[in-house]
Amino acid sequence: MTTSPLFYQAGPPMPEVSHGHGVFLWDTQGKEYLDGCSGAISCNLGHGREDIRDAMLAQLDRVAFTYRTQFENAPAVALAHALVEMTEGDLEKVFFVSSGSEAVESALKLARQYFVARGESQRRHFVSLRPSYHGSTLGALGVTGYQPLEAPFADITPSSIKVPGPDFYRHRDDDRDAHIRRVLDETRARIDDAGGDTVIAIVVEPVGGASTGGRLVDQAYLEGLRALCDEVGCLLIFDEVLCGVGRTGTWFAYQQWGVTPDLLTTAKGLGAGYYPVGALLAREAIVETVMASGGFQHGHTYAGNPLACATGLAAVEAIRREHLLDNVKVRGRQLQKGLETLRSRHPWIGDVRGLGLLWGVELVMDPVEKTPFPAASNLFARVTALAKEEGLLIYPRRSLNGLSGDHFLVSPPFTISESETELLLERLARALDRLDREVVAPLLA
Ligand code: PMP
Repeated sequence: MTTSPLFYQAGPPMPEVSHGHGVFLWDTQGKEYLDGCSGAISCNLGHGREDIRDAMLAQLDRVAFTYRTQFENAPAVALAHALVEMTEGDLEKVFFVSSGSEAVESALKLARQYFVARGESQRRHFVSLRPSYHGSTLGALGVTGYQPLEAPFADITPSSIKVPGPDFYRHRDDDRDAHIRRVLDETRARIDDAGGDTVIAIVVEPVGGASTGGRLVDQAYLEGLRALCDEVGCLLIFDEVLCGVGRTGTWFAYQQWGVTPDLLTTAKGLGAGYYPVGALLAREAIVETVMASGGFQHGHTYAGNPLACATGLAAVEAIRREHLLDNVKVRGRQLQKGLETLRSRHPWIGDVRGLGLLWGVELVMDPVEKTPFPAASNLFARVTALAKEEGLLIYPRRSLNGLSGDHFLVSPPFTISESETELLLERLARALDRLDREVVAPLLA
C-alpha cells in the first residue's frame, strides 16, 4: 500500500480493490469480500454485469455526452418515462442530476422557486427531521439533522426547523399511536411558532439510511404530515435517494404507505453503481408554475447526459426483467430472520429494523435503557473492521447523542441468492462473536 494523495476521511489504510463479480469484490491481495451493503447502498445489481456494460458501451459508441439544453436524448426521455411509470403517475415530471445531494438541492430550489413564482416569497423555512441525512452540499446539509456534519456549517446553510421523527425503538410514549401523535404535535407546534405561511416544505426519508440506520415511518405519520402540509400550504418532499428504486421491495418506499409527496428525490441505486445518475420527480402543476415564471433557475453540467441515462435505463430494465423486486422481498425476509437470530444471541443488539433489503442493526450497552456504548469505544468502526476481516462489507454509523446507538446497515445487492444470504449471515455472525469477545465483554466487565 503506497501513500495516497487522496483525502476522504481518517481511518485505517484501505485495501486496494481488484475486481468484482455478483455480490463479491476482491482486493489486490486476493481476499474476497461479500458486498453486504452494495457499496454505499448503490450497487443494487451487484458487480461486473455484462448487460449494463453492453448498454453503456452501445451508448458510448453512439455518443457519451450531450448537453441537456442543446439536444434531447432518447435514453433520458425513456428513463424519465420509466420513473413516472414507477410512481404510477403520482409524479409526472423528471429533472435529472448526478447525485443524491444534487437531487435534494434541486428539490429545495424547485420548491422555493414555486412559491416565489406564486408571490409567496415569505416562505423561507424548510422542516426536516433530527436525525436525518439529505446530502453534503450546503442546501442539502441545511436540512440534514446529523450534528457532527452540520456543526461547522450551521451558520451558513439555509434555514431548517429540525423536528423529531418517529422512533419506534426508543420512544417512551404509551403506545405507537400516542408516539405518532406526539411527534406530529411537536412538528405542528414548531411550524406554528415559525408561522405556517413561512414554510416551504417538509422533507422526510420514508426509510432512514445513513443517519438512522433503517428507521421506518408509518402510515399514520405520513398521513399526518400530508395533512399538515396541505393545511399550511407547503410542499411534502420524500427523499428516497437511498431507499428508492426498489431497495425496499417496491419501486419507491412511500408506495407501501400510500401517501404521495409533491417532490421525490432518488439517486444511488438508479445507476446501480455503474454511472452516477439521480433524479428529482415533481408534480406537473409545480413544474408548470415554475416554467411559466421563466424556467427553473438551476442545473448541473452532467445532468441527464446520454451515458448516465442509458446506464440507469439498463439498470431499471434489469430489475424488471429479472423480477428483482420479488427477490428483494424474499431475501429480505431471510435476512430479517437471520438478523433476529443474531439479536437473540447478543443482548447488546438492541434493534433490527428495515424493509426489503435495507436493514439497520443498532447496538446498545443497556438493552433496557437503550443506552448507547461510550462514543470513545467507536463500536461502529470496530464492528465494520471485524466484518471486513471476516470478508463482509457493512455500512456503519456512529452513535448520536441520545438519539441512537452505533448502528450499521446490511443492504446487499438485489441479486443476492439464498446461499449468499446465508454466507452473509455466517460472516456477520463471526464478526459479532468476535466483537462480543474482543470489544463488548471488556466494556461491560
Ligand atoms: N439523501 C439521502 C437519503 C442519502 O442517503 C444520501 C446519501 N447517503 C444523500 C441524500 C446524498 O447522496 P449523495 O451522496 O449521492 O450526494
